[in-house]
Amino acid sequence: MNFEFYNPTHLIFGTGKLSHLGDVISTYGKKALLVTGGGSVKRNGTFDRATASLEAAGMSFAECDGVEPNPRITTVKRGARIARDQGCDVIIALGGGSTMDAAKVMAAAYYYDGDPWDMIHHGQPRPHVPTRALPVITVPTLAATGSEMNMGAVISNEQTKEKSFVQAPCLYPKAALVDPELTLSVPRDQTAYGVCDLLTHVTEAYFNGVDATPLQDRFAEGVILTAMEWGPKAVADGRDLEARTQVQWASIVALNGWVNAGTNGGFPVHMIEHTLSAYHDITHAAGLAVINPSWMRFAARHRSDKFVQFAERIFGFTAKGTDDLDCALQGIDRFEDFLKSIGCPTRLSELPVDDSLFTRYAQDTLRVLHDKKGRLPGRPPMSENDIIEVLKAAR
Ligand code: NAP
Ligand code: FE
Repeated sequence: MNFEFYNPTHLIFGTGKLSHLGDVISTYGKKALLVTGGGSVKRNGTFDRATASLEAAGMSFAECDGVEPNPRITTVKRGARIARDQGCDVIIALGGGSTMDAAKVMAAAYYYDGDPWDMIHHGQPRPHVPTRALPVITVPTLAATGSEMNMGAVISNEQTKEKSFVQAPCLYPKAALVDPELTLSVPRDQTAYGVCDLLTHVTEAYFNGVDATPLQDRFAEGVILTAMEWGPKAVADGRDLEARTQVQWASIVALNGWVNAGTNGGFPVHMIEHTLSAYHDITHAAGLAVINPSWMRFAARHRSDKFVQFAERIFGFTAKGTDDLDCALQGIDRFEDFLKSIGCPTRLSELPVDDSLFTRYAQDTLRVLHDKKGRLPGRPPMSENDIIEVLKAAR
């Protein structure tokens, strides 16, 4: 596909970089809104180190804490209000993907007088596409989403039970200050979920994209192999800085636009998972770990060649030909085994979902996103029955 690549985020990557926060921020504003999650950064000392750096650079700041996993639109509104009331001119997101996503939408909501939910994609047409936002500096404390260096954010609406995304160039963070040391305290389960999330970002691009993207395929396979090599080390020993560093770099490359440039794929696994999270507040990548292998088996029956390539290049299988479905399915089994081995759930029965709601999950997923024929974009595009089939097979 013809494509454009644009990613203006200034990436500052390396151990100890947190101490540069004050200097980085002072080039973008005078008073920061410091956005944080449920308290991990306060318990592990990151918050104090960040504020010390701000103070040393002569920066003042206001605070918006308590961003929840699966961040809510009500929290976005609260943060935007604090930024306005306190006269902030730059936003710092210090936390995981949830904190970064919420901060990005707060930055756009700052300039929008309507309901910020208008910005979130939830069916056509979207009432407001953001074009302006306060400058955002991301400081990730968890390697997973890649939100620190992309223009996306995912927000939940607890009232309507919707979880969906916004993408707009104005949401690119001005800078991402990525210090792998900050991830040393991430618990084992969240470490594994981060590995699963980054892997799913790459597999979505790999399997849903157009044909004949040889370089993109190799990029994707490089990220997958790297995550599968270093992810288990980070899970086994959270203090392994080398493993944390490799996983974090992989998580950024997985979704900063590079791997999927020109592939033009959909994100069906993410879209289905968002509905489950919206209903049951499930951890994002726990849902992905269950849906992705089931979706892969469904998709491989429509198009085995890419799954055969995956089995060969990732797991070293030798296929009888590009239509060797057995080989494709064995590769998917191995991928699922990997997810299980690092501690991810792989069956829906391990999650608090309700089997009797499968039809509603499918309909709600399609309500959020569908093509002209009413199907979920991806390869293949999915009907309501297809989504139900994938959910049933994941039980
Ligand atoms: P998260 O929801 O931000 O955080 C998960 C948990 O990890 C929280 O309880 C958090 O605690 C804790 N945590 C974070 N850093 C920690 C640290 N250094 N030490 C100890 N605990 C730590 O997790 P996430 O996976 O990064 O983000 C998930 C969200 O991002 C979902 O809503 C998902 O849909 C979205 N997402 C966005 C994109 C994108 O491109 N924008 C892509 C994929 C997914 P505290 O809250 O106490 O800090
Ligand atoms: Fe994700």
